[in-house]
Amino acid sequence: MEFRHRLATSDLIPLSKPKRGMQAPINILWFKRDLRLSDHLPLTQAIAARKPLLLLYIFEPELLNDPHYSMRHWRFVWQSLEELRRKLTPLNARLHIVEAEPLSLLQKIHQQQPIANLFSYEEIGLQCTFERDIRIKRWCEQQRIAWRESPSGAVIRGAKDRQGWQRNWDKQIRRALLPPPKGPINSADVALPEFSPPEAWLKASSASQYGGEEAAHACLESFLQQRGERYYRHISSPLLSRKSCSRLSPYLAWGNLSLAQAYQSAKQHRGSGDWERSMRAFRSRLHWHCHFIQKFESETSMQFAAINAGFAEFPWRDDERVTQDLERWQQGLTGVPLVDACMRALNATGYINFRMRAMLVSFLCHYLRIDWRLGAEHLAAQFLDFEPGIHYPQLQMQAGVTGIHTLRIYNPVKQAKEQQQIETFIRRWVPELHELPAEALPAPWSLTPLERQMFDTQTSYPEPVVELESAARTARDLFWGWRERETVQRDAKRILARHVMN
Ligand SMILES: Cc1cc2nc3c(=O)[nH]c(=O)nc-3n(C[C@H](O)[C@H](O)[C@H](O)COP(=O)(O)OP(=O)(O)OC[C@H]3O[C@@H](n4cnc5c(N)ncnc54)[C@H](O)[C@@H]3O)c2cc1C
Repeated sequence: MEFRHRLATSDLIPLSKPKRGMQAPINILWFKRDLRLSDHLPLTQAIAARKPLLLLYIFEPELLNDPHYSMRHWRFVWQSLEELRRKLTPLNARLHIVEAEPLSLLQKIHQQQPIANLFSYEEIGLQCTFERDIRIKRWCEQQRIAWRESPSGAVIRGAKDRQGWQRNWDKQIRRALLPPPKGPINSADVALPEFSPPEAWLKASSASQYGGEEAAHACLESFLQQRGERYYRHISSPLLSRKSCSRLSPYLAWGNLSLAQAYQSAKQHRGSGDWERSMRAFRSRLHWHCHFIQKFESETSMQFAAINAGFAEFPWRDDERVTQDLERWQQGLTGVPLVDACMRALNATGYINFRMRAMLVSFLCHYLRIDWRLGAEHLAAQFLDFEPGIHYPQLQMQAGVTGIHTLRIYNPVKQAKEQQQIETFIRRWVPELHELPAEALPAPWSLTPLERQMFDTQTSYPEPVVELESAARTARDLFWGWRERETVQRDAKRILARHVMN
């Protein structure tokens, strides 16, 4: 859903004359994608600095209008902010929530009251937030404001290779967790206009996860106490993974929970048999979390171009049916039941498991031969856990444009036959096929005309957008052939040297 910028910054913040001679300097804690009070290093540092502290969250028009984000994300953020506010009130502190372009907002605050220090986490985000941070950094330097940024998880800012990366991960993930603030906070008194959210953000959706630190810890608890036992067995099933996977991804993406909190809780977990194996698999996923974000941090152009320069000229389709086929994929109308069920489940709830995400990308890029960039924003807007640093590297890996990973072309019919409880899942999301027997669900096009009559298949369900077998064969030949190119091989060596751990 599109969200338009409703008020210009200049409408919101009265331009007052500087009163700097009269005012004591303040510090600012800028909440970004770290919406929690516990285990929050910049917050702890900002409180310890003892100056009057302004707690700030900024809704940025550029992000509100960015196609990677949808109402789903902002509602989750709003839920998290409301909880922060509630928890801060007994601490004599107030979270200021403002809609503004961040640099002009900081400039105006600085006019009202001089800023001494700005505290925040480093953000590993889209190109637009990277550029915004560069502008702010430059301005802070000019104004002699110290911007004290703390690393996010175990990601190393600007790392050029993986030297010492594993050591840093071990250190970051095992460090002592920080408690939430206890005593009253010395709050800065700055007049800022109040942001009021659109009505739609206020209505919780029963289909989607609820934002906030409390929901994050409840989710972690239920995973460790009960849901997680069969994690490694159910991880690939689109139905069973909804319960057996941790479902922590939105809480990690929006920072309701720190990675160290999740990791250390899992490490302390005691259990045998399935539990042991599940906890090991879970902890390795948390490691991947930072490993992928580090790739994006070290190579931000991944938002726009294949990491392997040898794929720059790859012959993606550009015929007149691309838009139509892309829309069918986005809407879950490809005529391939498992693909459609997964996309519809994702569109409705904001979640689908890893294996099915990989299959959706494979279907787009291999079977339809549509450029991965054309699917990136749709998926991002649907994933409640959209995390640019995982999203883009994963998209490229599943699309097969890195030149260093084994190419996996997921056969959606085979997946439908292999994964557990697929029948229930497809029936739930593709009700047009409710008359079909279980064995016909993966590939309804293979029914004979007589069987079709017998089962009264609804004509509203489309024929497959592509003939699967020949499309897979063509993709296999094309992608494997392309990987042999000298340009691909040469850049693969560079990628390995930069992104793979020694
Ligand atoms: C094309 C594509 C796009 C993706 N985009 C995102 C995204 O925007 N945000 C996101 O959080 N995950 C993304 N993933 C990774 C993965 O699918 C999700 O993290 C996972 O499904 C979330 O469910 P969970 O929290 O129950 O995961 P669990 O299996 O319980 O894993 C625990 C945590 O480990 C991390 N994790 C798990 N799998 C991976 C992985 N393959 N790579 C990196 N980290 C992982 C996540 O933070 C996750 O919350 C993407 C995967 C693909 C194939």
